[in-house]
Amino acid sequence: MTSITIALSKGRIFDDTAPLLKAAGVFALDDPETSRKLILATNRDNVRLIIVRASDVPTYVQYGAADMGIAGKDVLLEHGGSGLYQPLDLHIACCRMMVAVRDDFDYESAVRRGARLRVATKYLRTAREHFAEKGMHVDLIKLYGSMELAPLVGLAEAIVDLVSSGNTLKANHLKAVEEIKPISARLIINQAALKLKRATIQPMLDAFSAAIQQGEETMV
Ligand code: ATP
Ligand code: MG
Repeated sequence: MTSITIALSKGRIFDDTAPLLKAAGVFALDDPETSRKLILATNRDNVRLIIVRASDVPTYVQYGAADMGIAGKDVLLEHGGSGLYQPLDLHIACCRMMVAVRDDFDYESAVRRGARLRVATKYLRTAREHFAEKGMHVDLIKLYGSMELAPLVGLAEAIVDLVSSGNTLKANHLKAVEEIKPISARLIINQAALKLKRATIQPMLDAFSAAIQQGEETMV
């Protein structure tokens, strides 16, 4: 039987993915949060999991080192999606990509005046497209984390970051001023693998869809 490799990241995505995998009859034999292994065997001989950095998931799948994976839309927008088939919105790890500023900063009037803002973010591509669409000139500053700090210490006037409850923004005296995109995790599949390993991949795809639909029915 054909073997498949699924790329996942630890943390939020893994926590929300484990029930979906279970619905497809797959569970890891080690807990990725405590295990130091990067390749995890599952209860199924022909399915293994690899644990990679969230932003690296599309890369492993694009090059076929993993046949499928689960990645946030935020990460996929930055990656560009080349070589990837994105058949399913998993409706997990939901949040919003937003522009945020200090709560004493008048963003609307800065936009109206055509002020040139400095924007700190790890999402350069998404931010560039968003401000270009608005016709705004911005200077983008690449960060790798803790974007909330940037407006507080004068590195930037605005940030582009993911927001779920808004509690982190509030705790840092920031406010969200613009939504760029709703974000959730997506199933991604290597385009060649889908053709070559359809017999193994398709049943998992179907099980994921069924599990998501069921989840939605119990929610309403
Ligand atoms: P690393 O911690 O390795 O730098 P990361 O910060 O991207 O990577 P996580 O914080 O676990 O890793 O985020 C993984 C994914 O979870 C993101 O790509 C995004 O899709 C989703 N996510 C991030 N923040 C939130 C949030 N506040 N609410 C819901 N989903 C989120
Ligand atoms: Mg993180």
